[in-house]
Amino acid sequence: MKLNALNKITEPFGHSERMPVLFLGHGSPMNAIEENEFVAGWRTIGKTLPKPNAILCISAHWETRGTFVTAMDKPKTIHDFGGFPQTLFDVQYPAPGSPELALETKTVIKKTSVGLDDKWGLDHGAWSVISRLYPNADIPVIQLSLDYNQGPQYHYDLAKELSSLRNKGILIIGSGNMVHNLGLLAWEQLNTADFAFDWAKEASEKMKKFIVEGDHQSLINYTIQGNAFKLAIPTPEHFLPLLYILALKENNEKIALFNDKAVAGSLTMTSIKIDKA
Ligand code: ZN
Repeated sequence: MKLNALNKITEPFGHSERMPVLFLGHGSPMNAIEENEFVAGWRTIGKTLPKPNAILCISAHWETRGTFVTAMDKPKTIHDFGGFPQTLFDVQYPAPGSPELALETKTVIKKTSVGLDDKWGLDHGAWSVISRLYPNADIPVIQLSLDYNQGPQYHYDLAKELSSLRNKGILIIGSGNMVHNLGLLAWEQLNTADFAFDWAKEASEKMKKFIVEGDHQSLINYTIQGNAFKLAIPTPEHFLPLLYILALKENNEKIALFNDKAVAGSLTMTSIKIDKA
């Protein structure tokens, strides 16, 4: 283990300052290059954060069999989408990786043997939001994958093992969307501000109630929360990053919601910052 390199990461904050954690509703990849209220919201939150030593991102867009962390020096920018303008495919986010943080993350996770990945990089769930928080790409970023064979309780429990990284200046970001049903998007309402179908509104309100009340178990048990939740979470990958972030909340910390709006009926951009009270 490269302890010297790791110390370099941990030095500036030592154990003195505990980093906040973020869940960011990422929405369309176009948020990487457009100006809109959500991008403004991310920027505003970014300004409230202490400068991280490195970022660990759990993105909806990296699902694997087993659990992996990106461990390369220079993660490539992955354009994992289709049907968008060339200007979006031209975006590069050349933030360095951090093999040291990858190793540290592998070490703190006891629940499973975490693989060190040298093939992935930064998918748009990571770079489309992180590039708006840190446009200079000067903060190292690694990703932690979602094991698609595991259920929500497993992910929640695994996330708790990341807690000590917060004391080392590591900003942990979950990137997904709480309500995310692309099959039911109302494209004709794309420009109608905060347009949500009734079921999306119902699911969103219940999710926020559970979040604010600290009822994480009801969110972990999302599959038994009725029809609105079924429509809001047709597949788990955009919802699971939320569970990672909630698992990292300490009892004495407060939750701030922002970007709490819907897009095109079936997607919510609702985002969360958890920080000391
Ligand atoms: Zn997505």
